[in-house]
Amino acid sequence: MLVLPFQQRGLMSLSILLQSVIKVSQGTLTKSVHLCLHYQDTTDMAEKPDNADQGKEPQRNEINELGEFGLIDHLTESFDIKQSSTMTSVGDDAAVIDHDRHYTVISTDLLLEGIHFDLMYHPLKHLGYKAVVVNLSDIYAMNAIPTQITVSIALSNRFSLEAVEEIYQGIEAACKYYNVDLVGGDTSSSRQGLVISVTAIGMARREKLCYRNGAKAGDIICVTGDLGAAYLGLQILEREKQIYLSQPDTQPDLEDQQYAIGKQLKPEARNDMIEIFEKSGLKPTAMIDVSDGLASDLMHICKSSGVGAFVEESGVPIHPDIQQLAIKFKLDPITCALSGGEDYELLFTVDPEDLPKVRVMPDIYMMGEITDASEGIKLHTTGGNIHDLKAQGWRHF
Ligand code: ADP
Ligand code: MG
Repeated sequence: MLVLPFQQRGLMSLSILLQSVIKVSQGTLTKSVHLCLHYQDTTDMAEKPDNADQGKEPQRNEINELGEFGLIDHLTESFDIKQSSTMTSVGDDAAVIDHDRHYTVISTDLLLEGIHFDLMYHPLKHLGYKAVVVNLSDIYAMNAIPTQITVSIALSNRFSLEAVEEIYQGIEAACKYYNVDLVGGDTSSSRQGLVISVTAIGMARREKLCYRNGAKAGDIICVTGDLGAAYLGLQILEREKQIYLSQPDTQPDLEDQQYAIGKQLKPEARNDMIEIFEKSGLKPTAMIDVSDGLASDLMHICKSSGVGAFVEESGVPIHPDIQQLAIKFKLDPITCALSGGEDYELLFTVDPEDLPKVRVMPDIYMMGEITDASEGIKLHTTGGNIHDLKAQGWRHF
């Protein structure tokens, strides 16, 4: 196992790590290596380097030696219960949750190998972490607080016990960081490929919930962070995979690309913004998380709310590294920001009366205004042109 300490997250270490991830994932899966990007500051996922392990063959224990129930116990025994609403968790026929007078919010995502992730470059621990985060992001997008998750996995015999443990280490790190309890799931074998499905459960006071359908003409369109980085991260990883497949001995060139790769492999949900909204007494009129791309997700708000919108190109936040990287990839930065997905920032609309609250918040970018439905959904470009904003989003079919 190759684990680099956080201080060594320089370019060389990143490229060696990435290459190791690719190599490991080609054969039988034992332990994948860890890409130590962006870890230490927010979660306890980064590990100390284990010198004794270096140079040794990774261990491989077969899952069938434990059996299904042994596996479930083994994977879940270290998870502790943090929420007072969790009455019964793993081990009975169903979990029992007491949200008292709050509304319960539920969201599920299904992640399929080869469709949503590629184990050629997605380390297992990151995958577990991301599978949880993308679900929690949906709960935050309702202006609710996630409290529990369930995790269902289907595994082929390509996976060793150590590989599944890694997925669960990522799941556990996300549970700790976002303060949610793992309360159940399901485990199955799979003929091919890995399947992970996470269901997140959350709660909110009824009057706090933010739906997609509350935007009205005159509201300001805001987003909590820069866009397009995760999409570019995916382009880089795909490129490195192709290069590796044709020339396994070349070193990846990853200069200036950590930001994008980090956003793709280890996204975070904006729980911090939900706390800030609560503290400042702001309730967005509508909200959604940016999973399919800004254009597509704004369209969801507009459709549900029966309104139109205009977005100022100059107001769409794009990280400077991403601007440069997009150009290097011969892509238009604004297209990446509008149509790339998986940013997991919160896109929301606010009543203009609430602008003083929004202006003092960190990390909020205002980029347009809600209009009447008859005006459509438009992009005002920096060159002074007006285009229809087209939602490309992710198409799986
Ligand atoms: P059942 O046969 O009733 O479906 P299972 O044997 O599948 O029950 O599950 C036993 C317990 O373990 C349940 O509490 C279930 O929610 C939990 N569980 C099963 N698989 C997982 C998993 N992959 N992760 C977490 N909990 C799980
Ligand atoms: Mg079951």
